[in-house]
Amino acid sequence: MSATPPNLIKGFRRFREQHFERNDSLYQQLVKEGQTPKTLVVACCDSRVDPALVFDCDPGDLFVIRNVANLVPPLEGHSGHHGTTAAIEYGVCTLSVKHIIVLGHAHCGGINALVKTGGVGTPGSYIDDWMCLVESARAEVMAEMPQAPLAEQERACEKRAILVSLNNLMTFPWIRERVEREELNLHGWYFDIKHGQLLRYDATTREFAAL
Ligand SMILES: [Zn+2]
Repeated sequence: MSATPPNLIKGFRRFREQHFERNDSLYQQLVKEGQTPKTLVVACCDSRVDPALVFDCDPGDLFVIRNVANLVPPLEGHSGHHGTTAAIEYGVCTLSVKHIIVLGHAHCGGINALVKTGGVGTPGSYIDDWMCLVESARAEVMAEMPQAPLAEQERACEKRAILVSLNNLMTFPWIRERVEREELNLHGWYFDIKHGQLLRYDATTREFAAL
């Protein structure tokens, strides 16, 4: 038998006792009626940024998509396998979520890689290729604050990349139409894992402000 990741079996037993068994009616209802989450979150794979934990949500509350640096690709052709886009399509068109939150975060490894490579990725690197999606964010930040310390550039890039993803969401007609009919709301949020703060992008001031 292969080795088991440490602590997970004990963790599952605790989960069964403290959550599953105590919330039996909730789980039975979710099984019987299916999931009806109202919010879709695009979050990073980063092990420190778990949306259900950060927002203290119950099972069934959030439809979560996680990828490197919480990016949303734009509308593209049908070649290739579009995991993030497929999940967004399911959340929007089948589950009819009312909100999409692009949840960025501080000290993102994906953004760090993008800034470090200067937008010139290593051929064959899936990460570099993926991070090219927000190269425009990096280029803008570097043009605006070329002399700033690297950490500041990275924090700015993490936030700017959220805006690229929000714009990319609007390239899908089935999202744009729902936004225009006010059936769907798009949000750019940023979790500062150092200070435990949540910031929200305000389209009027064009700035991120603490919630
Ligand atoms: Zn990240």
